[in-house]
Amino acid sequence: MASALVIFKPDAAHRLAVREALSSWLAEERGWKLSGLTWYQPPKELIGSHYDFLQGRPFFPWLVDFMTALPVLVGRVQAEPAELENMRYELGETRIHESRPGSLRERYGIWGGVNCMHLSDSPESGEKETQLWGRYLDLTRGDAQLGADGARPDHTFHLRSLFNQVAANVHGDLAGQEATRLLREETDLTGDRFDALCRVLLGAIG
Ligand code: GDP
Repeated sequence: MASALVIFKPDAAHRLAVREALSSWLAEERGWKLSGLTWYQPPKELIGSHYDFLQGRPFFPWLVDFMTALPVLVGRVQAEPAELENMRYELGETRIHESRPGSLRERYGIWGGVNCMHLSDSPESGEKETQLWGRYLDLTRGDAQLGADGARPDHTFHLRSLFNQVAANVHGDLAGQEATRLLREETDLTGDRFDALCRVLLGAIG
């Protein structure tokens, strides 16, 4: 049995309909077991260690900001290696424009590396990541209070279209404003936390 780290990244942790959809997927436990899920805002040093193989890539500073800007949902999944591989297949490819149609990332990720969920990509990385994160928090804690989120809209595809406009600078300002308005409908974050969500999501465009 392998252990894998699962993280609802800030987009999925705070876009409530997306959080609900991903929670439902995890709760299916088709050949895997979710053995903990809790809220945690990781420090920069933890994200730096977790993604140390990406240091030096142009998007690395954004990635650290993205993953540390808000509390995220972190947990542990236990599965046979073949089942973990299947879960990663269902999750889909890393970058949204390359993600397999029907995968979770194609359905719920917005743009670029804003791809909703982290899941360890092998038993070896699962072992390494659960050990690393286990030094900061108890990954077996199952105290995430998710609430009833079903009434919130899911604007993923509209947001993707608007992010493409921002990236291409086609009505860029208007597209950014409209994306912010849609994100406000999707989340219960307010004030500085809502601003942080918008900063890290739109910041993916660079
Ligand atoms: P994963 O295992 O599919 O999450 O992919 P990696 O371990 O290679 O990358 C870690 C994370 O870095 C991804 O999930 C993305 O959030 C981010 N990332 C990777 N490649 C890119 C990229 O080309 N651009 C941006 N903006 N982010 C990326």
